[in-house]
Amino acid sequence: MFDRLKTLYELQKIDDQLDELEELRGDLPTAVESLQERISQIKNEMADKEKQREESLEKRQGNEEEIEKLQANQKKFKAQLYQVRNNKEYDALTKEIDHTEEQTTKLLTENDSLADQSKILADDIEKIKPQLEELKEELKIKGADLKEIVKANEKEEGKLKAHRKEIVEKTKKPDYSAYMRIRKAKKGKAVVTIKRSACSGCHNIVPSQRQLEIRRNNKLFFCEYCGRILVSPEISEQADA
Ligand SMILES: [Zn+2]
Repeated sequence: MFDRLKTLYELQKIDDQLDELEELRGDLPTAVESLQERISQIKNEMADKEKQREESLEKRQGNEEEIEKLQANQKKFKAQLYQVRNNKEYDALTKEIDHTEEQTTKLLTENDSLADQSKILADDIEKIKPQLEELKEELKIKGADLKEIVKANEKEEGKLKAHRKEIVEKTKKPDYSAYMRIRKAKKGKAVVTIKRSACSGCHNIVPSQRQLEIRRNNKLFFCEYCGRILVSPEISEQADA
């Protein structure tokens, strides 16, 4: 049992060191991640606008071709006007001419608004571009900072992780799950000792009877206030030695 408790304490010690390394990174990992997200958002937004612009351009070209056809037809109809033989033919032709005129006007108006839309989209894209560049630059700097910190501690972290693995292998499965559960809930410390008669995790006094029991090192004890695993000073002294 003594070894079982000692193993848990050692696991905590390793995790404390790993946490310290993690802390060195500060908010860089989160910052880098949110920059990456923002950049991909903006890229999508830009691609979307580009696509709309292309579609608008295609539609305009289609309309222009249509207008050309309409105008050619109109010219033909106008020429035919000179050859009409009766009022009925004349009316039919003028009706056609009016119709092509209407269609042309409609398409021209549509093209005007498509051109306006394209202009707005182009302006938007131009406005977004520097934003994107700025974010990319920021990401470059923060990413490099993070990489540097990670690299500086790579060896140490690797060693600690390897050591942690060994300890985890020695840890009993239920102990490990309890440890991980408490560690998550308490954001770090799951195994603590008694210091000056108090739980070093929450600083509440541990009753003396309980302290005696804990000192026997023959059972897993949890602090009745914070729920952390409480080990005797002997365990910590041995593990720290
Ligand atoms: Zn406590």
